Amino acid sequence: MIKKESKQKLLDEIMEDILDQKVCPELAAGATQLVFGDGNPDAELVFIGEAPGKNEDLQGLPFVGAAGKFLNEMLAGIGLRRLDVYITNIVKYRPPGNRDPYPDEKAEFLPFLRAQLDVIKPKIVATLGRHSMECFLPGLKISDVHGQPKRLKGQVYLPLFHPAAALYNGGMRQTLIDDFAKIPRILAQIKQ
Ligand code: URA
Repeated sequence: MIKKESKQKLLDEIMEDILDQKVCPELAAGATQLVFGDGNPDAELVFIGEAPGKNEDLQGLPFVGAAGKFLNEMLAGIGLRRLDVYITNIVKYRPPGNRDPYPDEKAEFLPFLRAQLDVIKPKIVATLGRHSMECFLPGLKISDVHGQPKRLKGQVYLPLFHPAAALYNGGMRQTLIDDFAKIPRILAQIKQ
């Protein structure tokens, strides 16, 4: 088993690779900085969002705006702190004007995201929103499968609604909170 400190070092190397290989140079040119990921490099639970927004771009950290505050509240609701989990995005530079990331941008970042997951080796990869889900579980409809763990090639994925979408939609908000509440039981059921 790789130690936590070594995992952090390996994650740092992946971050350097993104910079060295000049991934998505046009996005990089319009962004303040790379938003690589944050949290416990040895986490059992990893959350994957879509792309950084304005606050994330300014602070260099994922999910630090309104959606992040909601994510923190839901984590607290299941007895977890941010430093217990790892949080990242598919696309690691803020798209201009917060537009949806393009398919080629997601494809360019995917190998680096997979490399992050290979280092962390979480029990659950929780995808936040449709874009993130489609990277790992293509062809599914999030409204059909949210909150249902899916095992694929030995990895458990948990598709969840995106907290930004759920924030101001009462029904979706409660659904997301209910789906979060299932996480401790799903984690306990996964042997690793
Ligand atoms: N939305 C995302 O998908 N990611 C963030 O980091 C912030 C908001």
